[in-house]
Amino acid sequence: MQRRLRPCLDCQELTRNASRCDAHQAAWQHRYDVQRGSASQRGYDSSYRRTAAAGVTAHRAEYGDWCPGWGVLPHHATDLTADHVTPKARGGGNEPDNLQVLCRACNSRKHAQ
Ligand SMILES: [Zn+2]
Ligand SMILES: [Zn+2]
Repeated sequence: MQRRLRPCLDCQELTRNASRCDAHQAAWQHRYDVQRGSASQRGYDSSYRRTAAAGVTAHRAEYGDWCPGWGVLPHHATDLTADHVTPKARGGGNEPDNLQVLCRACNSRKHAQ
């Protein structure tokens, strides 16, 4: 089945692509890649996400679904996430001992400070 022609979102030229003509699709993909590149330069790349996931798994194995608390007492929590103790911006790395496991609520409380 042939795709219907649609106007490019950027230049209105008719195209069979999903949303943009070939040129604008390429430009859009480039912008996307640049954004993703800067995200991984900040340290939030796939290796960090793996380390963070492993940190949460290790925490669960040891303590269960239990948040150590940030500004509150330790409490039961299933939405645990790992976060940098020393932020990347201040020279912190992705190694496990720079990761702190908190629930999402405590994590955002920590970032709000
Ligand atoms: Zn276009
Ligand atoms: Zn918590």
